[in-house]
Amino acid sequence: MTNKDIEQLVRPNLLGLKAYSSARAEFKGRADVLLDANESPWPTGRNRYPDPSSTALREALGKLKDFNPDQIVFGNGSDELVDQITRIFCGVGDAVHALPPTFGMYKVAAGIAGAEFRVTNLTADFTIPVDELKATWDDRSKILWLCSPNNPSGNAMEAAVLEDLIRTFPGIVVLDEAYIDFVPELSFLPRLAEFPNLIITQTLSKGWGMAGIRCGAAFASPFIIGLLNTIKMPYNINVLTAEVALDALGKKDEMQAKVDTLISERKRLETELVKLDCVEYIFPSVTNFLLVRFKDSAATYQHLLDNAIVVRNQAYQPNAENCLRITAGLKEENDLLLSVLSK
Ligand SMILES: *Cc1c(COP(=O)(O)O)cnc(C)c1O
Repeated sequence: MTNKDIEQLVRPNLLGLKAYSSARAEFKGRADVLLDANESPWPTGRNRYPDPSSTALREALGKLKDFNPDQIVFGNGSDELVDQITRIFCGVGDAVHALPPTFGMYKVAAGIAGAEFRVTNLTADFTIPVDELKATWDDRSKILWLCSPNNPSGNAMEAAVLEDLIRTFPGIVVLDEAYIDFVPELSFLPRLAEFPNLIITQTLSKGWGMAGIRCGAAFASPFIIGLLNTIKMPYNINVLTAEVALDALGKKDEMQAKVDTLISERKRLETELVKLDCVEYIFPSVTNFLLVRFKDSAATYQHLLDNAIVVRNQAYQPNAENCLRITAGLKEENDLLLSVLSK
């Protein structure tokens, strides 16, 4: 796919659109006195507008991921990127494809854009039914969401399948790698340059432990990054978020230690949960959570709530009957969960 092909996929009104030009982007040279943006002059560390292109943060993440910082754009959580990506390529009459059970925002974003949300359910063991999926593609197909590792199933999709889908889908493929910090060796980021129609999203919300600061990243070709920069609100990453994110990225060892702990806690939960009478099956996970099939998920959900433990009900999702999604917590929290479930 060439940039010309990708241009054909973009909503036509965006192609000629010029991004908002912020005060600080309009000059080059020394800047000792800033009287250009109607800011308050007292240097509190918060009085200036943030850098609209998050340069320092892009450079830090680029270095960490061994990836060109010019091909990164940040969102107010990857949620915001899901919405932006959808609105770049989709309006009324276009189609978005996804593979439930999966992350709920893809559908919400398609709804906001007025696009058709076309689903092909994952198989009973949560693999991609490739032929069935391909049979749903047509000339209205603009975006295919692939989530690997997938939420809520917890498994990673086979690399050869992902590669085949990226190469054959007639539109933009977005690979949501929100949980990639738990299996970094499975990331497609090192291979992104092979796929001009591929966008990869990652986030600081899961492995990095920073859900509260709202910071997600998209990685893509310079052409697609240009489109994202055109439609994004100029100051979507505020100075507080940028500051905390930059500090966190500088402490990769801390993140790694916590990720390692969560992986071993997830494994312990797996070992202990299968022994319980109320548990029917635990789906294999490479993430910080488990999808667990209970004999009676509604009763188990209520029993946990009665004991002030909140898990996520997934029973309404396809192929997830009687399933609850349980996040690995602190050791004490997991112990409490196990003890409540054993009663
Ligand atoms: C949690 C999650 C996200 C959202 O991440 P934010 O960066 O917090 O918005 C995106 N995709 C999947 C699959 C997730 O589970």
